[in-house]
Amino acid sequence: MTQEPTTPAPVPARVPPAGTGVDISGLTKTFGSRKTPVTALEDVTLKTPEGSFLSLLGPSGCGKSTVLRILAGLETPSAGTALMNGKSPRDLQRDHGLGIAFQDSALLPWRSVEANIKLPLQVARMPADDDLVAELIELVGLSGFEKAKPATLSGGMRQRVSIARALVVRPTALLLDEPFGALDDMTRQRLNDELLRIWTEKPATTLMVTHGIAEAVFLSDEVAVMSPRPGRIVEVLPIDLPRPRVPEMLRTPEFHALHDHLSGVLFGRRTDETAAPAGTSR
Ligand code: ADP
Ligand code: MG
Repeated sequence: MTQEPTTPAPVPARVPPAGTGVDISGLTKTFGSRKTPVTALEDVTLKTPEGSFLSLLGPSGCGKSTVLRILAGLETPSAGTALMNGKSPRDLQRDHGLGIAFQDSALLPWRSVEANIKLPLQVARMPADDDLVAELIELVGLSGFEKAKPATLSGGMRQRVSIARALVVRPTALLLDEPFGALDDMTRQRLNDELLRIWTEKPATTLMVTHGIAEAVFLSDEVAVMSPRPGRIVEVLPIDLPRPRVPEMLRTPEFHALHDHLSGVLFGRRTDETAAPAGTSR
């Protein structure tokens, strides 16, 4: 009997669906009065494939949260359109296709971990899905804390509750606004690994606002950089690092080249070393 050579099983490729994911076109937002208008966003256009991960980087006050709040249906644009997966914010909400996790995890203090995660289902009058809630609690590493109140958890644990809560409606679109903003670097990297694992298991069209260049490169398919207010798109950089992404990649020359390039664009230190890697679009 001859023995077949054994080859390692290939890692299954993540095959995103074919449609358009983020579809923002000519988006402008002006706050304030007619006399003293504050233009937060000016002619922002961004398009990604469905199921891809886009990060938005930019200086404080450049309008990143405004982009997310428009996509979430919490603000109306002054001009332009903002769709995700071909749906308006209102349609996405109606179909319960949207998961949102913003910086301050905004958990209800009197509710347990489990009850906070179930909240979007109750608000949307969707059936309780105890199996999914249990699965999400395990996915974000909070098994054993189901009955704990938010005040007894660390900041990182609270952020993980808010990620689980964003995923409980099985969203096809995910909006993350500096979800790990207030955490130390080690906790952040651990949560980035977790977020990546969750996102790979349950891929959704994702738009994440962050001020962390490293986490943007680590997680994303593309990174968009915005100018200071009024926010415009300065550059969209494709991140062609292979998936699955592993923490060892943080130390590769390819990772450093992308990181250096983005910090050059953000902080205006453009030199030959920070010239755009091949494939950059504007
Ligand atoms: P970022 O998230 O990039 O820090 P924001 O989107 O929160 O920026 O804000 C962009 C600009 O719009 C800022 O100058 C901010 O002060 C202004 N802004 C945001 N929301 C409002 C509002 N509701 N009323 C007036 N100005 C606002
Ligand atoms: Mg913001």
